[in-house]
Amino acid sequence: MTLRKKGSLTLPAFENGTIWLAGAGPGAPGLLTLLCVKGLQEADVILYDALVQEDILNLSRPEALCRFVGKRAGVRSLKQPEITALMIEYARAGKRVLRLKGGDPFVFGRGGEEAMELARAGVHFRVIPGITAGIGGMAYAGIPATHRDINTVISFVTGHDSSGELPRNIDWEGLVSASPVIVFYMALKTMPEIISHLKTAGMAENTPVAVISNASIPGQRVTETTLAGYDLETASVPKKAPAIIVIGECVKIRGLIAGFQQTIYNPASPRALEC
Ligand code: SAH
Repeated sequence: MTLRKKGSLTLPAFENGTIWLAGAGPGAPGLLTLLCVKGLQEADVILYDALVQEDILNLSRPEALCRFVGKRAGVRSLKQPEITALMIEYARAGKRVLRLKGGDPFVFGRGGEEAMELARAGVHFRVIPGITAGIGGMAYAGIPATHRDINTVISFVTGHDSSGELPRNIDWEGLVSASPVIVFYMALKTMPEIISHLKTAGMAENTPVAVISNASIPGQRVTETTLAGYDLETASVPKKAPAIIVIGECVKIRGLIAGFQQTIYNPASPRALEC
């Protein structure tokens, strides 16, 4: 018989001179992983991106250096090679460096590029996955990512390439025929173009669409519409808030469960968001 020691948890050590490349999830502190919390509590230096919430940074040690390295309107932002160089510099100085990104570091977050650079520089690092906005946002909106009666496939697509345009290499017909549920990131700006591609590829005009902005954080908002009604019904969706756009029949399930779900934004009990 194995003896179970209740209440104990052993997590890997955060060693000096190493980097933890971590995802902070979609925003609510309750959606952090235990490893990310440990990283926040022990790091000497935290290099964080836009979309990482203040509540989360507040978990760091008072003496930790928290440095914003994301993009901010009107301010010159650090270029990717500058961010990587900074991480390497701090690690070589013996610091425990937490590189904190929104969602999951390897999903539309350049984490792959950073990890490759760190490996090239011979710096040791650990990748800590986070709940990606697509998954967390759907869950907080009351939309199951998969449902046996609806989809056996789900696709995550970016609406924005490195030049800020809709990526040119998306096979729209392939996407529409293979994936009954499609989740777009960074797509508010290019949505009119995306909708026109989806329609041309044969997607039905009445396919349900949900725009989920500020998922899991105060101001969470879900707007339901259809492919045909998108322009009209999303006119008031704030264009600056982070948003994911979900397309597929799964959106309809929201109407059946969201009223009872405690994690979603509910004006009558806004504290529910603090979980
Ligand atoms: N690595 C991140 C994605 C970074 S790209 C992840 O795995 O989630 C930034 C995009 O993520 C935003 O433009 C938006 O599409 C989405 N996003 C991030 N946080 C969000 C949130 N709280 N609510 C809705 N969308 C969010």
